Formats: sequence, structure tokens, C-alpha cells
Amino acid sequence: MLKEGNILTINGGSSSIKFSLYKTGEPLILLLSGEIENIGTKNAKLHYTNSKNKPRSTVNIKSKKSDEITDFLINWLKKQEGFDSVLAIGHRIVHGMQHTEPEIITPQLIKELKEISDFDPEHLPQEIKLIEIFKKHFPTLKQISCFDTSFHTSMPTVAKLLTIPRSYYEKGIQRYGFHGISYAYLLQELKRIEGDKTANGKLILAHLGNGASLAAVENGKSKDTSMGFTPISGIPMSTRTGDLDPGVVSYLMKHEKISPKQFNTLINHQSGLLGLSETSSDMRELLKSEETDVRAKEAIDLFCYQVKKYIGAYSTVLEGLDGLVFSGGIGENSPEIRSGICKNLLFLGIEIDESKNNKNEFIISSDTSKVKVYVIKTNEELMIAKLVYKTLL
Ligand code: ADP
Repeated sequence: MLKEGNILTINGGSSSIKFSLYKTGEPLILLLSGEIENIGTKNAKLHYTNSKNKPRSTVNIKSKKSDEITDFLINWLKKQEGFDSVLAIGHRIVHGMQHTEPEIITPQLIKELKEISDFDPEHLPQEIKLIEIFKKHFPTLKQISCFDTSFHTSMPTVAKLLTIPRSYYEKGIQRYGFHGISYAYLLQELKRIEGDKTANGKLILAHLGNGASLAAVENGKSKDTSMGFTPISGIPMSTRTGDLDPGVVSYLMKHEKISPKQFNTLINHQSGLLGLSETSSDMRELLKSEETDVRAKEAIDLFCYQVKKYIGAYSTVLEGLDGLVFSGGIGENSPEIRSGICKNLLFLGIEIDESKNNKNEFIISSDTSKVKVYVIKTNEELMIAKLVYKTLL
């Protein structure tokens, strides 16, 4: 039997680290949660909430360097109640190639992740570094990787292949899909609240945050998803392009003399909502200015249009549709965007009840809608803690 203790979760992004501490048991109990934001700027801050500090408190961090900030976080965590009982650390790892389950991190796994670092240069190097710094501070503590790609390993080959020469597929260049930890959580929540039949139905899950994707799911298994080899493809995101005609790459390289590094910055940090609106990557800001700025309106319209297109595509992939789930910062909070996406989709059986939609209710479809439309707040940290707990048992 597992001895009592706590689980630390670490979710490291390019400019933020989210963390939480859960007490083991069923259910897991949240003891502490927080986030360091603005890493790499003069303005790095640690926000946290624990049972004594509600609402959240903030600590300023002097350093700009990500390694020093991680050391700061670890030294701060060491002083927090419950940290001395940590049994394991669960890391969100964006890319895990063919790994289907969470795994205890070994030197071999770190070597493998380093070898595929260039598959996702925006996330993987930072995540590996976090593991190594935690290892340096706590050499005997178990660290467990939870992969965002695992959820999609069930996709059929037809959804995994890219149409470049097959020899590249053998080198690992294929569609993987991401946001798997969030999708697994949404399915668990749907099952908990609505039961097995609903959770096993034909579902489209839409995780719409700064990073955004959709997944077509049946019997709890991913059949297709909009992100691919990297988290850049699919629908437009806050600063990522989403799908882009590959011919644009060689054209820009030839005519604008863009280097591979500049191109990577362009498609990851200067495109999507920010690139189109030329003002903001933040959906809330765009919604505020859409009446007065046509660029903001066009960025919003394009976002809704592309999500809608994927809903149409995935309804055919699933050969029918029972449920549509909205999640992520935009999906959970924006009635306007949900309404814009679902407009005139009655022919697919989707009809929104605007009064429920405006209140962000759990079910926002009308009573007569054939497809049930849900809003579920995702919780990747809790899902990581659950996966780690299951691995430790
Ligand atoms: P991340 O992918 O970084 O975790 P989030 O899931 O928090 O991001 O989503 C951030 C996005 O959600 C931003 O574009 C933000 O503007 C948007 N968002 C949050 N609240 C609202 C709201 N009330 N209306 C519209 N968009 C919102």
C-alpha cells in the first residue's frame, strides 16, 4: 500500500511554470497551487494560493534567468507546508512520441527526450531542464512524466501519416497531437457528471486557450486531432499560425530571406490572433475592440470560422456527433466565441441556448438540440496528479 504523502505537479511552459501540491488519496486534495509568470522578463512573479492564503498572494522574483527562477521556486517550495512529505513529482511533458502511459523518469528517458528536442523546441528543452534541476535538488525523489501526446497514440494510421515521403515517417515525422492531459481530464469529468454512455459517445473536444486544438473522440479514444507533428498546426492560436500552406515556407525564405530561426519565431510568436489583429494575442482584448477595429473583428471571425470547419470535419470523421465540449480560457469563458462557432450548425444537430451560454452553464445547448454542448473547466494539474498517483499505486 502507498504510504500517505503528497504529489507535486510541474507544468513548465516557455514563459511560465504552473505548480500544485496534492495530498494523496481518493479524492486527491489540493493543498497548494500557483504559477510563476513572465519568465525571461524583469517582471517575473510567483502567485500562489494555499489553504491559509485565499485569494492568491504574490511574490516578486528578481532574476530573469529561467534556471535561477527554477532554483528560486524550489527553495520557496521547500518552505511550504506539506512539501517535506512529497512522494513524487509529476511533470507535464508536451512531446512523448510513442509513449502511451506516464513513466518514471530515468536517464534513458531524458536521453530520448533530448534526442527529440527539436520536435518541439518551444517546450521540450525547458521541460527537460526543469526535470534536471529538480533531480539536482532531490536526487532520490521519483519524477514521473505525463505526456500530452499519449492520449492520441490511439489515432488510426490514416490520421497519423503526413504526406511527405514515407522515409520521414520512419524518422518519427508524423502527426502526434497535443493537449492530451486536458482531453483525458475532460473525458473523466464528462463521465463523472453524465455517465459512461455520454463519455463513450461520438465527441468533439475543443480546448481553446492560448494554445488551441480540437479532438475527435469515440469510446474514449482519440480518432483525430488538429495539432500535428508540433503544437503549431490546426486552428489559429494566440500567436501560432495553425495550418499554413507549406508553399509559404519556401516563398518567404526566397523572397524575404527569412532564416529557419526567424521562420520559427514567425509561426510561433508573431502569427495567429496577434499577427492578424496587429494589436493583441488576447481574445478578451480583441473582443473589446472588435466594434472599432476591423483587424480585431477579422481575427475573431477567422478563429470561429476555423474551429467551425474542424467541427464539420470531425463530425464526418466520427460519422455522427453526440457531444461537443468547450474548454480552455476562451472555451470556458467566452459566450461570444462559442456562439460564433456554433452559429447555423443546426443542420449538424447543434443548437445553443443563448441564455445558458451567457451564464457559462455546464450544458449550453437547447433542450431540443440533438448534440449536447458542454462547457467544462479543464484542470491539467489535477490530471497530472491523478496519473502520478495511479503510477505510484
Ligand atoms: P493557456 O493556453 O496559456 O493556458 P488559457 O487557457 O488561460 O491559456 O487561455 C487564455 C485565453 O483565454 C486568452 O486569449 C484569454 O483572452 C482568453 N479568455 C480568458 N477569459 C476570457 C473571457 N472572459 N472572454 C474571452 N476570452 C477569454
